[in-house]
Amino acid sequence: MELERRNFLRGRFKPSPGVIRPPYAVVEREFFSLCKKCSDCASSCEEKVIKLDETGYPEMSFGLGECTFCRDCTKACETGALDEENARPWNVKAEIGDNCLSVNAVFCRTCGDNCDEEAIVFKLMLKGRSKPIVDDELCTGCGACVMVCPNKSIKMTDGQKVKGREDLNV
Ligand code: SF4
Ligand code: SF4
Ligand code: SF4
Repeated sequence: MELERRNFLRGRFKPSPGVIRPPYAVVEREFFSLCKKCSDCASSCEEKVIKLDETGYPEMSFGLGECTFCRDCTKACETGALDEENARPWNVKAEIGDNCLSVNAVFCRTCGDNCDEEAIVFKLMLKGRSKPIVDDELCTGCGACVMVCPNKSIKMTDGQKVKGREDLNV
């Protein structure tokens, strides 16, 4: 029996910070008990955004594509680790770092132009700078903005408090 499952059964469950499981995954504790590391979800994903982590469990890899929420991975999962009954795919959101070109006075709107949900707004700052801000209520966590950012300034995060446009004051 592999280490993670043994630890899980002994009550030594450890969540995986920073790791994003495929959409419609059950909570991490249950995920470890159900996922058999068969990689069927990864094989079924035409966007190739699911890879296997170092222990063989599937995780999202947004750098090469976006999730279209097609549910092919969920349908391929026979163990219930990805659950079609889940009403929402996840609580994953885009987060933009301070190394963003626009924040540093280099004109760029690439992420905003590629966001179908129009979830990224640019707040004008002094000295020709502009800060892109993600409206968490609109962001679906698709990851389309990640691969197009020329400066690798965007990462996807899971489970943060959702901020809407009013909270962001833009
Ligand atoms: S929902 Fe579709 S695009 Fe998204 S990870 Fe699953 S198979 Fe890939
Ligand atoms: S993850 Fe998708 S919806 Fe969210 S800001 Fe990026 S492109 Fe827009
Ligand atoms: S695409 Fe990247 S560098 Fe350009 S504005 Fe968006 S976060 Fe900044």
